[in-house]
Amino acid sequence: MFQQNFKAMNTLLVCPECKNTVDLSKYPNITPGMVVECNHCGMTLLVKEIAPDGNVKTEIVDEGK
Ligand SMILES: [Zn+2]
Repeated sequence: MFQQNFKAMNTLLVCPECKNTVDLSKYPNITPGMVVECNHCGMTLLVKEIAPDGNVKTEIVDEGK
């Protein structure tokens, strides 16, 4: 029996800042602890958890630029 490739999982990340769906095509191997950038508002987001349904939970990272 073959295991399903994790890349096939339909992950969905909604930006907590601008409420847009972040394009995760740049992050095919998204994992908790990873930092992604919202392609709409540029907010840096830390991945906290990926729910079994593919819903990605994030926390805003304050880089203090
Ligand atoms: Zn955003």
